[in-house]
Amino acid sequence: MKVGFVGMGIMGSPMSQNLLKAGHEVTVWNRTAARCEAAEAAGASVAASLSEIARAGEIIFICVSDTPDVEQVLFGENGLASGLSAGQIVVDMSTISPEATEKFAGKLAAQGVEMLDAPVSGGEAGAIGATLAIMCGGKEGVFEQVKPAFEAMGKNIVYCGANGNGQRVKAVNQVICALNILACSEGMLLAKRAGLDLETVHKVVSSGAAGSWMLTNLGPKMVADDWAPGFMVKLQAKDLRIALNSIHSLGENFEGTELTTRLFNEAEQDYGDDGTQALVRLLGWEK
Ligand code: NAP
Repeated sequence: MKVGFVGMGIMGSPMSQNLLKAGHEVTVWNRTAARCEAAEAAGASVAASLSEIARAGEIIFICVSDTPDVEQVLFGENGLASGLSAGQIVVDMSTISPEATEKFAGKLAAQGVEMLDAPVSGGEAGAIGATLAIMCGGKEGVFEQVKPAFEAMGKNIVYCGANGNGQRVKAVNQVICALNILACSEGMLLAKRAGLDLETVHKVVSSGAAGSWMLTNLGPKMVADDWAPGFMVKLQAKDLRIALNSIHSLGENFEGTELTTRLFNEAEQDYGDDGTQALVRLLGWEK
């Protein structure tokens, strides 16, 4: 397939490279042009503008930070929508608001363009290894059309219903992830305060009932004081705000999510660009 890919960040760059590896013809665009270099070296063409990438193929993928960023990419001055024509498909793989997603899909439909929301889970390693879980909202027929491209980027690719439902499932995912990061942080902090050997603790605890993706992937980073991001604290805080908004709009109050959102919002102030393992820094890891 001929496809476009907007957003060459930690996730988008390796995802676009996996599309290339699978034999698709890929054109990329990034706001900061230098971040296109890795995809270009892997064989991608680079578009000079959003309106140019809109003409790059039948499907245009987006993976940028937050809801206003997707809105700007789509509908900002000289945005993607200005260059799209009827019959094309926009696939937003960013994690954003489900309600805004419905609105964006409606606006694109008015110009004959289909949209899927297809947020992902599996972190930078999943993006590099093409093992992402992909949760997809939109029309099922459109999902089937895009599926061969999804298969180049992920392993567990699941249709979740109408537009917005991919993002709703992702909010569920992020509640579970974030509370788990807090659990891992407090457990590892207890080990540190008790003067235990952290590598030994991690080795045994991660293989028992306390084991999780978070403990396996983030625990060794905490032990090594490695705060480099796979997934940034500021993005986890953003995802929790989206989830909390959904929880509140359903008239619910989830205390664990409230607490974890408060802690991630606080962590964002000093450690926003660190990886999510840096939640443990807010709790006093370096004291
Ligand atoms: P990242 O490395 O910070 O990349 C963000 C990308 O968005 C960059 O290419 C950035 O362009 C672009 N961008 C941001 N605002 C923009 C705007 N207004 N207009 C145009 N481009 C804009 O973040 P990431 O980790 O790849 O995350 C991307 C999305 O994937 C987020 O929604 C995140 O929640 C989600 N996600 C991330 C992970 C993970 O483990 N990292 C896992 C699952 C889902 P510049 O280079 O110019 O700044």
